[in-house]
Amino acid sequence: MQRRPGFPARIDWRQPGAPTAAPPVGARREVQPPTPHGVGLDSAAVRARMVQRLAASGISAGAVLQAMGMIERHRFVDTALANQAYEDTSLPIGLGQTISKPSVVARMIELLLGAECARGNGMGRVLEIGTGCGYQAAVLSRVSREVYTVERLRALHEKARDHLRPLRLANVHLILGDGMLGYPSGAPYAGIIAAAGGDSLPAAWCEQLAVGGRLVAPLAGADGQQMLLVVDKTAQGLKQGILEAVHFVPLKSGIA
Ligand code: SAH
Repeated sequence: MQRRPGFPARIDWRQPGAPTAAPPVGARREVQPPTPHGVGLDSAAVRARMVQRLAASGISAGAVLQAMGMIERHRFVDTALANQAYEDTSLPIGLGQTISKPSVVARMIELLLGAECARGNGMGRVLEIGTGCGYQAAVLSRVSREVYTVERLRALHEKARDHLRPLRLANVHLILGDGMLGYPSGAPYAGIIAAAGGDSLPAAWCEQLAVGGRLVAPLAGADGQQMLLVVDKTAQGLKQGILEAVHFVPLKSGIA
């Protein structure tokens, strides 16, 4: 039987672990199964399952899980891809760029929140390099006081603005510019997070990081393999740790 392609295409109420409102076995005929209608309601259930999977995979920061549960990822991708929005997969957002998978977004933001200066009063100002479609900026806006996000491609910068407008996130500042230069006007930052990877860390990022702040970015090694890099700025200098392998689009210079 052909499945209806409508969103969310992948809910199967018969599966174990399907959303809780599945009809009880032997329910009377007039008790209708909650057939999906209206993206809002349905996406809440699918998003809740995504959050459960993130928690099961080791994301433990409540603030991150809550933010990921709140921001509707399907609104940041093309309608044709909306039914994949809550799967753990990266998706194309145009101009050869991609939105990172939810597990990577959650992992990087959780690491960012580990910044020393975020421990007492929560996360202050954050700089994101690579706005893309604006999804990660929206998640960041729920876990930090201010988000400055820089995108070098005008078309994506504008797309992100369109996606974010209805959310009215007053603490997100969209900047068209070359993120390799950071964004000095908002510095110093408690956190810097890059969604594109080069083979060296731009000096501006380390300069614009506050003491007690943390940078999380992909960085390519000599073999071209990108690894997740965490840099903490302490009073004694920079402390760096290299974590798991990752796969991000390349960091490029200039505006296009
Ligand atoms: N965080 C984004 C992911 C976007 S992909 C999201 O949630 O959708 C990474 C983005 O980094 C791309 O849009 C790419 O154009 C951008 N990028 C690459 N180099 C850049 C630079 N030097 N400055 C700003 N943005 C850059």
